[in-house]
Amino acid sequence: MSKAGTLSQVYQKLKLAAPTLPLATSATDIVPGEGLQTAEIMFIGEAPGLTESVEHRPFVGKSGQLFRKTLRESGLTEAEVYITNIVKVRPPDNRDPSRLEIEAYRPYLNQEIEIIQPLIIATLGRFSMGKFLPDAKVSQVHGRLHKIIWQDRPLYILPLYHPAAALRATRVKTAFIADIMKLSKEVTNLKQSITEKLL
Ligand code: URA
Repeated sequence: MSKAGTLSQVYQKLKLAAPTLPLATSATDIVPGEGLQTAEIMFIGEAPGLTESVEHRPFVGKSGQLFRKTLRESGLTEAEVYITNIVKVRPPDNRDPSRLEIEAYRPYLNQEIEIIQPLIIATLGRFSMGKFLPDAKVSQVHGRLHKIIWQDRPLYILPLYHPAAALRATRVKTAFIADIMKLSKEVTNLKQSITEKLL
């Protein structure tokens, strides 16, 4: 096991802490991330919606179905990536998460990143993008890889539109799909350039 522990340990801690965290009243309110602990691509959304909080899985409602379908069409499987949210409990009426809520769940998300050590983090929407690229606008930077240093390691951020925004406007949906279609190629290219630098 890595020094950072396992994802199930992170979620055990989170469930124990649930009564002290904003939005949550008990462990059953928590919607855990899902996917591969050694994933090269990690997707981070905003917060669970109603369907997610009933099914205890991220991105399984209407916008999640668009996201997962696009992912499969791009040639990636859900089993080889990791999908999680900035905030792990549904905000009432699906409102935007507050700064305080994002801050309260931040240590848990950071532990997920530390355990997975993904090559690329694809952010879904402006809240998760803001964690890594605070001054960027999704409409200006979506689909472009950004290299940052995260916890002393290089990390590539790929900002994507949120799939809920894609469901609201055809232009956004076209861009959302095109950006996801590029993802597995981006991973191959990155791995190749990293190997070449090591040779
Ligand atoms: N929107 C999100 O940001 N996350 C989910 O899990 C579902 C919808």
